Amino acid sequence: MRKKLVVGNWKMNMTQREAKAVVESLLLLIEPTTEVEVGICPTYLTIETVSQLFRRTRFHVGAQDVFWGKAGAFTGNISAAMLKDLECHFCIVGHSETRGRFGKLEVPESTLSYFSETDETVNLKIKALLYQSIHPILCVGETLAEREAGNTDAVIQAQLKGALDGIDGAEFHDGVVAYEPVWAIGTGKTCDSAEASRVCGMIRQSLAKILGPEPAEAIRILYGGSVKAANAAELFSQPHIDGGLVGGASLVADEFSAIVRSA
Ligand code: PEP
Repeated sequence: MRKKLVVGNWKMNMTQREAKAVVESLLLLIEPTTEVEVGICPTYLTIETVSQLFRRTRFHVGAQDVFWGKAGAFTGNISAAMLKDLECHFCIVGHSETRGRFGKLEVPESTLSYFSETDETVNLKIKALLYQSIHPILCVGETLAEREAGNTDAVIQAQLKGALDGIDGAEFHDGVVAYEPVWAIGTGKTCDSAEASRVCGMIRQSLAKILGPEPAEAIRILYGGSVKAANAAELFSQPHIDGGLVGGASLVADEFSAIVRSA
């Protein structure tokens, strides 16, 4: 039986003081339970603050990205060993925003090449994380144009195949996949719960082909894309959805704790 998992992606939000205040509220609002796992992925700069507050609790801290190199001349990057040093349990990889696939474009189109994540770099990052025993949260999902062209499943299958190339199923056993339709991220539009569940089921079938049936059964598959307290219970009750990756709604302690309670 897979344990439900709810992870907050704080994106580029929260100063040290704000992070501390939200985490302190979460610790008061969310009752410790062994039934649901909860994590927060803050910015690199607030990981240590959150990590210290989560010590000796059931909450996990994670990162939003990583660089695959071990160390050296990679200005501005952060390695998996550095994340391990701060006790990161999870790390998001292949988020649509790092792939330059935005649901709501917040940057000039001419700067999109800055957000240049590919399936190949996602693959290198996953390998670097597994080497440090950090659980990857691999994000996959289609744009609106891809959905409208009837390519949702093919796009996601190709993302999974590229990201997991050469990875041993036993090693990815505790990994996580997040189905995040790009058009639902930060837009307030949520994927219909039955359709989100169908895609998550399709992802598990693809994982079975790529990694083998046993790891595929163990891997948690989350839904992400405008999850909020009002829709979480419906999404999390779907047969193929094991929890949520929550962006905007994880910034507000009351809202995020209500989402965790739904799980
Ligand atoms: C995300 O960024 O992973 C996400 C799901 O964002 P939001 O919940 O804000 O749509």
